[in-house]
Amino acid sequence: MGGGYIAVEFAGIMDGLGVETHLIYRGDKLLKNFDQPSAQFAANEMQKKGVNIHYSTNISHIERKSEGTLVCTLDNGKSLTASQVMYATGRKSLTKDLGIEKVGLMTRYNATIETNEQFQTSVPSIFALGDVTGTPDLTPVATAQAMVFVNQQYGDGSKSISYENIPTAIFCQPNFGTVGLSEEALKAKGVPIVVYQSEFKHLKHTLSGSEERVLMRMLVEKNSQKVVGMHMVGPDVGELIQGFAVAVRAELTKDQFDATIGIHPTMAEEFVTLREISYSF
Ligand SMILES: Cc1cc2nc3c(=O)[nH]c(=O)nc-3n(C[C@H](O)[C@H](O)[C@H](O)COP(=O)(O)OP(=O)(O)OC[C@H]3O[C@@H](n4cnc5c(N)ncnc54)[C@H](O)[C@@H]3O)c2cc1C
Repeated sequence: MGGGYIAVEFAGIMDGLGVETHLIYRGDKLLKNFDQPSAQFAANEMQKKGVNIHYSTNISHIERKSEGTLVCTLDNGKSLTASQVMYATGRKSLTKDLGIEKVGLMTRYNATIETNEQFQTSVPSIFALGDVTGTPDLTPVATAQAMVFVNQQYGDGSKSISYENIPTAIFCQPNFGTVGLSEEALKAKGVPIVVYQSEFKHLKHTLSGSEERVLMRMLVEKNSQKVVGMHMVGPDVGELIQGFAVAVRAELTKDQFDATIGIHPTMAEEFVTLREISYSF
């Protein structure tokens, strides 16, 4: 159950282990906070591998049978019999029973704790870092905050953290790697964007016979020519997008990508050889 990255990743793990897997999601789009053309491509690849995706569906009732199986009644009238049901429908900070309200530390509506840039809460002697602060729920974000905190408390205080252009990967099969803004976020910003896009079969699958395909998308600000979003679905993309995240963070332009020589034969070379605009908005 669920449509976020954890549900999607676990569906891929179960399916990869050879288990008949159904991913049930109440919404009509998986990974809704990510670049949607890429997310839909990733969902399609998952379906090709055998994950059964049920959109706009909820489990209304689960009944355990005497032999241990779980009969899930869906709200569309159908039912599924499973040996395990896993819910990955969101996480909440466990701040409720800590007693922090007794010292005047109030949480936000979603149980996270607000801090300033020094990680001080509303009670200045109490600090908070990581997921509990409501910043992006990622291990490297928590780690980076810890490094800044240590520098502020015990070092020269020169370090700070930016939450822009944080790269991340969804470890579905194939991976979905992303850095910068999604098409939807850029449309909401209203800046003119040109999109370069390429879809192909990885060279290695010419022999393997696999039908797996790769999608690479580069979103470029039309006026400045800065690359503001890179999204990719393909094998081991988590490894690949980390390097390109440096370029996006450095605000490099499309010309600078184009001037970089590719490494052949790789998937990554496509990002420095995208010449034709696919569409713009
Ligand atoms: C299934 C899953 C997959 C994920 N995959 C990724 C991934 O691929 N990449 C990525 O970057 N991030 C991933 N994350 C997110 C990542 O785990 C978190 O962002 C990261 O762990 C945040 O670190 P943290 O120190 O803020 O919190 P946590 O790592 O959650 O640490 C909080 C600690 O506090 C302890 N604790 C809680 N309450 C109390 C209490 N009252 N007293 C004492 N101790 C307490 C908890 O037991 C826990 O050990 C994933 C998360 C999940 C759940």
